[in-house]
Amino acid sequence: MTNILVIEDEKKMSAFIQQGLEEAGHSVETAESPTLAKARFGKSKFDLIILDVMLPEMSGFDLAKEIRATSPSSIILMLTALNTTKDKIQGLDSGADDYLTKPFDLEELHARIRALLRRNSSEKSSLHNGQLEMNLLTRQVLREGIRIDLTTKEFTLLEFFMRNLDKVMDRHTIARQVWGADFDPDSNVIDVYINHLRKKIDSPYTKKILKTVVGQGYVLNKME
Ligand code: CA
Repeated sequence: MTNILVIEDEKKMSAFIQQGLEEAGHSVETAESPTLAKARFGKSKFDLIILDVMLPEMSGFDLAKEIRATSPSSIILMLTALNTTKDKIQGLDSGADDYLTKPFDLEELHARIRALLRRNSSEKSSLHNGQLEMNLLTRQVLREGIRIDLTTKEFTLLEFFMRNLDKVMDRHTIARQVWGADFDPDSNVIDVYINHLRKKIDSPYTKKILKTVVGQGYVLNKME
């Protein structure tokens, strides 16, 4: 059973999510405000947090940052009515693992939760590519022994490439696997994140491994 906390001030929305998730066999608690959510954290441990962006007291973005700082292993699924590139990036940079745009149906929510839990329960604890290594538990990334700080989404993107070395991945596959089923593959968010990642894992080093394959997509090359 998965313990889920729903942080949402709209009672109807919160009840809809709670009922849907309980019917699917999850244990669900709800909190109507950041203050109530923090009180819940003190009492229970949650596998997954569903967090609305629009909340009283503080924004979901700021609350996600606080949750991420105190509980790095929690999975955060952000709910947003905001469907612009800037807001998506802000949500993911504040520590959310994924987001869902309102309105959504329960099937979509279930699918997203399954994907997030699966991603989290991966049995391998680290990935290696030559001198580049990722620890999936501590979330530490090293290249040639030097620590590289990645945002949550950059980490997910790198993990995706590390699991698919030397395979050219097209935009549709990257969008679906890293951002989720309803993500627009033509959005420039993918390019923005590839560039961020490249600056961190490639720019300081002689050998470049994250390549653009014009008209096809991107590939992370295997290193000896
Ligand atoms: Ca709300």
